[in-house]
Amino acid sequence: MNEKLSVLKNECLKCKACELGKSRTNVVFGDGNDNAKIVFIGEAPGANEDLQGKPFVGRSGKLLDEMCESVGLSRNTNIYIANTVKCRPPENRDPSPYEQRACAGWLKGQLEIMRPLIIVCVGRIAAQEVIGKDFSISRQHGEFFRHGKMYLTAVYHPAAVLRNINLKPATVEDLKKVRELYDKITAG
Ligand code: SF4
Repeated sequence: MNEKLSVLKNECLKCKACELGKSRTNVVFGDGNDNAKIVFIGEAPGANEDLQGKPFVGRSGKLLDEMCESVGLSRNTNIYIANTVKCRPPENRDPSPYEQRACAGWLKGQLEIMRPLIIVCVGRIAAQEVIGKDFSISRQHGEFFRHGKMYLTAVYHPAAVLRNINLKPATVEDLKKVRELYDKITAG
């Protein structure tokens, strides 16, 4: 148990700093190993996530878990998953720039406490927010970008993989590279 993260989570669960706080069922703070050094970041919760209060729990979340587990990455052991926006936008609309800004402090706080070695953005929107606004998921997925002591990378969103199963081998390969980099960093 990561005490600082628990304190931050308890504060976040009470947040009403933007309109999304009125319509949500649950705040989706994050899930996985609180002390993990690999943090996955998605965009915003969907309907299943809102109901269960956990990120990536629907069909696409199950696929993400399955692909991660095939390369030795798991929420039970070595990864943590969070979103840039913690409450579900109604009708799955995109979060507004105001909502994104209002919520940014929670993820920042999580990352300051957890100090990950590797951040894996899940999908284009999260990658454009975290890595850079010109990030191209089709051209740059699986590439690593150094940010201080941290490495940033991005993989296709599992919902995109469900729509086009041909993206699955490349996504598994990208996740394998994450695992290999993690092993290399932690071996030294
Ligand atoms: S989306 Fe973020 S800022 Fe808005 S109410 Fe939820 S936790 Fe607070």
